Amino acid sequence: MNDCLFCKMVRGEIQPKKAYENERVLAFHDINPQAPTHVLVIPKEHIATINDLRAEHATLVGELYLVAQEVARSEGLGESGYRTVINCGRDAGQAVFHIHLHVLGGRPMNWPPG
Ligand code: AMP
Ligand code: ZN
Repeated sequence: MNDCLFCKMVRGEIQPKKAYENERVLAFHDINPQAPTHVLVIPKEHIATINDLRAEHATLVGELYLVAQEVARSEGLGESGYRTVINCGRDAGQAVFHIHLHVLGGRPMNWPPG
């Protein structure tokens, strides 16, 4: 996906502040953080939204959460807690159409979300 912002990060054409990387997954700090810790965990494979997930992505989606857990632990959020969010589509406010798991923590969170 030539024009996808997050694919450009995967290819190294844009360099985010990385929090974690392996062969399948990249995690980096959000450019406009909404909490003291705000990391985005993405698959390196371009998948636009949750609606585009297929059965063969199940292991990869699970790995996004394992990386979120690892990032949260390394950011010192393992005990205090954190929120994970994947926005899907217009009403959820999805702005970048390459699936990403937000990991937010370091302050109390409200519920329900806005
Ligand atoms: P969403 O609204 O769920 O699609 O979230 C997109 C997120 O990507 C927002 O939290 C943005 O702040 C973040 N974002 C956009 N551009 C960049 C960038 N260049 N580096 C890091 N995060 C970004
Ligand atoms: Zn992409």
